[in-house]
Amino acid sequence: MLKMKTTSLLLFLSLTLIIFYSSCSKDNNLEIPDPELENLEIKDITSEASTLFSNENPDGPNGPEGSKKLTDGDTTTKFLVKDFKSLNIDFQFDTAKLVASYEFTTGNDFDGRDPMDWKFYGSKDGQNWKELDNHVGMQFRKRRKTYQFFFKNNEKFTHYRWAISKLYNDNMFQASEFRLIQMPPSSQKDDPIQKVDSLTKNNVSLVFINHSGKLDLPYQERLTNTYFTVYPKLIADFNPNAKKKIYFIIDPTYDGVAYAFGDVVVFGFDYMEKNPKDGDVVVHETMHHIQQGYKGNVPGWLVEGIADNVRYHYGIDEPDPWTLQDYKPEHNYDGSYGITGRFLLWIETHKNKNFVKELNNALYNGVDYNDFFVQKLGNSIQIIWNEYAKNPTI
Ligand SMILES: [Zn+2]
Repeated sequence: MLKMKTTSLLLFLSLTLIIFYSSCSKDNNLEIPDPELENLEIKDITSEASTLFSNENPDGPNGPEGSKKLTDGDTTTKFLVKDFKSLNIDFQFDTAKLVASYEFTTGNDFDGRDPMDWKFYGSKDGQNWKELDNHVGMQFRKRRKTYQFFFKNNEKFTHYRWAISKLYNDNMFQASEFRLIQMPPSSQKDDPIQKVDSLTKNNVSLVFINHSGKLDLPYQERLTNTYFTVYPKLIADFNPNAKKKIYFIIDPTYDGVAYAFGDVVVFGFDYMEKNPKDGDVVVHETMHHIQQGYKGNVPGWLVEGIADNVRYHYGIDEPDPWTLQDYKPEHNYDGSYGITGRFLLWIETHKNKNFVKELNNALYNGVDYNDFFVQKLGNSIQIIWNEYAKNPTI
């Protein structure tokens, strides 16, 4: 009788468990709570770990920017690594810990030294690693600011690894602080979804990273198509040595139009939402990647003027919402963007149709732009501009 009761109770319990499991199967993140894990408190456990760095600062771990500064609890000091290729930072605990979050504090200067791509792993033996978190195309707008990352993890590990594979735009890595946070499962969460699409076509690659949290961007196809249509032509016509792999990042924390940096183009999410037909923004920005070989002192207005001139010639939007600016008396040759760009178009139309290509080539060789005007057109840039001002029709 008693035995019967136990069996039916067990049957009842296992049925309940099956029902519980199946109701959870829609969401893999929901697990039966483990009381031992649930009793853990939310806590910074960094100081309980010993650390191991695959690269060290040249002055050693205790130097002014040595690895000890990464976990000293002081965000006014920093760890700096030179000649960055990749960097593994390992944390080892005497007993297994449940880590489900980490904090990274940016350095005091040069955002190019921030990590851009990394993975975060756990291991029980320091040999076999399980990936717990993964970020691509990150960028940080503020200096000495702490950013917290979250992921779901119900396994205790003795080893954790922060593996950085790419920096934003520098050959030096820096970080003010890095902390590991223990967290019981019921407090854990995931970071907002980050969407990454990688494509290769026409001998160039594009990594399209969407940080906006909005899953479908109506302009993604247009930006991607413009890149694969135009960028290979820019490489062929202007600079065969230009980078063949570019990252596009849709960034809700950037309030401008777009900018190019390293091998990245950052697009302002708000701008693209309001201007979904502006695909030729890609032409202007990727021209900056073509221009990366310029030597010497090339002024910013000339770099932007050439990029807008190239956008005019190579852009594929019909009609292009961003056009060169018609001449006005208050303009001058150093007006940048569409002002300088139209002046260059006038020179191409009336004096030398290959002028911009030849100027671009000269800038790779460190030729002074004004010397180039004198050499090619027989007069200084100011005199050529005065001629343009007298009759600016194209
Ligand atoms: Zn520009």
